[in-house]
Amino acid sequence: MSVNFRIIAIDGPAAAGKGTLARALAKHFGFAYLDTGALYRAVGLAVLRAGGDPADTRAAIAAAEALDDSLLDDPALRSEEAGRAASIVAAMPEVRTKLLEFQRKFANEPPGGLPGAVIDGRDIGSVVCPQAEVKIFVTASAETRARRRTDELEERGESADFGAVLADIQARDARDEARSTSPLIKAEDALLLDTSNLDIEGAFRAALDSVNRAQDILDAKDRVESE
Ligand code: C5P
Repeated sequence: MSVNFRIIAIDGPAAAGKGTLARALAKHFGFAYLDTGALYRAVGLAVLRAGGDPADTRAAIAAAEALDDSLLDDPALRSEEAGRAASIVAAMPEVRTKLLEFQRKFANEPPGGLPGAVIDGRDIGSVVCPQAEVKIFVTASAETRARRRTDELEERGESADFGAVLADIQARDARDEARSTSPLIKAEDALLLDTSNLDIEGAFRAALDSVNRAQDILDAKDRVESE
């Protein structure tokens, strides 16, 4: 399959289904996949493991500077505690700057010599890769997201209280939207995909439609430029 794009940016709030979609799109197009939330989670987790407080800017910056790639596969990254710590360190401009370089390098030179990258996060289409040819903003109601997260935790055998998960998601949304550096925002040229009433397969098909539409627009642009 020949495609004329190299970067697919997927943004959206916590538990909207970005990761599942991004992984499926990366597999479909043979692109590399980067979950940028894992980078912030790794920084938060490193601070916690060192016995520090994620709100301590100095400790967070030091953890971002010493970021260890091997932490990115640590199952503890998926805990609610790591998610909370991530959203605290993610509000610090110095931490964001440290992680920016890693993300841009991944986008520009996808590992394994793969032809492109799918990157998911909060600010990929707006700040990290504003040049991405395809941008999708994935969202769903806070209740839907809390339900999915609760089910996910229960499947993993962890105890989960819907009300507490919902409150946590709302608090993270508020922090992600209110921070002054790189707030969660839909890039103007991103396609909006609401997955509230879609299952995984439906969301994937809708995302693929968005990608195909973006490809059509790029094809038309290429034709105009070559005329
Ligand atoms: O997506 P995930 O829930 O793993 O992200 C964890 C936290 O990291 C988010 O709540 C958000 O505060 C932060 N984050 C961010 N920018 C990104 C990715 C994640 O601020 N590009």
